[in-house]
Amino acid sequence: MFEQLINKFSGIFKKLRSKGKLNEQDVDAILKELRMVLLESDVHYRVVKDLIAQVKERAVGKEVLESVTPGEMVIKILWDEIRKVLGGNVSSLETGGAMPVLIMLVGLQGSGKTTTLGKLAVRLKNQGLFPLAISTDTRRPAAKEQLAILCHNSGIDFYDDTKALTPLQMIQSAILHSREKSYDLIFIDTAGRLHVEEELLAELKEVVDTIPLKEILLVLDATTGQEAVKVAQSFKEWVNPTGLILSKVDTDARGGAVLSIVAQTGWPVKFAGVGEKVDQLEVFHPDRMASRIMGMGDTLTLIEKIERSIDEEEKQKIGKKFGKKELDLNDFMEELKRVKEIGSFDEIVGMLPGNLRGGISQIDGEKNIKRVQAIIQSMTPAERTNPSLINSSRRRRVAQGSGTTIQDVNRLLKQFEDFRKLWKQMNRTGKNPFSKRKGW
Ligand code: GDP
Repeated sequence: MFEQLINKFSGIFKKLRSKGKLNEQDVDAILKELRMVLLESDVHYRVVKDLIAQVKERAVGKEVLESVTPGEMVIKILWDEIRKVLGGNVSSLETGGAMPVLIMLVGLQGSGKTTTLGKLAVRLKNQGLFPLAISTDTRRPAAKEQLAILCHNSGIDFYDDTKALTPLQMIQSAILHSREKSYDLIFIDTAGRLHVEEELLAELKEVVDTIPLKEILLVLDATTGQEAVKVAQSFKEWVNPTGLILSKVDTDARGGAVLSIVAQTGWPVKFAGVGEKVDQLEVFHPDRMASRIMGMGDTLTLIEKIERSIDEEEKQKIGKKFGKKELDLNDFMEELKRVKEIGSFDEIVGMLPGNLRGGISQIDGEKNIKRVQAIIQSMTPAERTNPSLINSSRRRRVAQGSGTTIQDVNRLLKQFEDFRKLWKQMNRTGKNPFSKRKGW
């Protein structure tokens, strides 16, 4: 996710941090570099222009130039301005009001509408609501079938009325059905073709003009960049979405599209799709997204993910363990297994701050985990609890014992150090889900 922007930003930030003092020319030079990076990463030039102007206005002030850490201040200002472009605050999904609450998803075919609908329905079901899903794509049986299968696999009720000939009739039929069964919400999937077609949009407009929809969410594929902005503009002429969902953010390597889409549509982003699986939908937090785009990691989302994945009992057990002063290699081994269970390694690593990413990202795959396990098992108990004991002759012995090389052992020790830093960082923010004790 966002690899291109993160890599380029990290070079600029390194330079910024290495400078003791900044003068106005330094700031100008840095902003020029930033401008290039943003343009190369698919951010629209107008968005770049405004963003740079905002940063400049704040960065040449006394507060920054006379600060002892001017570099950090500029980075903070940039983060703040990116956060603002991304919408500032979280925009929640509206689910209150008369039942059933109607939430319609619109977007081009392939944008991820149906998948996102499944993710949303599951999310709300997990929050204790009773959702129903319908498809209004009356012309494409395959589209209905896709939603029906998705619902079946995720435990969501699906409704169809083969007598309904238009989207409007389908929704009206579903509302009657829903009242009988007391559903809280109806999620409405709509037809989307590869291009915006007038006939389909006219059908949507008929629905929008007749039915009180609580939310109209436009799903935009983040990987299509500027194209997504054009799609948004076409939809705007017919329906006025209440918010956006950006899908496939996990595969957006350049990273600038998210900024462009949000800045240019002006609509709040409610969720971001970060994978194909049904639980891979995140509430869109502008501040966290800004941190991710800038390679500062998203420790809060990571922590929430970990928190969700372990039950209370397990948490207490681990809490005791992490009450120890330092994390050791035994803990590392266990945590490594857990991190793998939580999600794909790429996803987890994408949430880590850039400086912690290097080592950990290499521990991917079953084979590597087995190798790590073999190396740790070849150490003595004392070495496992105190890895600083492992000098070069011990490293040789461990490599021989585990059938690996000294380089493998060195790499593992480096990865362990990265991991230990991450835990410390979580503790510093007071948000370590594994430990309630202060000072760890
Ligand atoms: P629709 O035609 O708009 O309903 O799109 P689909 O829901 O059928 O999705 C099209 C493709 O995009 C499918 O292969 C989905 O698995 C994939 N997809 C949807 N959302 C995401 C996402 O957030 N991340 C990734 N990587 N793939 C996604």
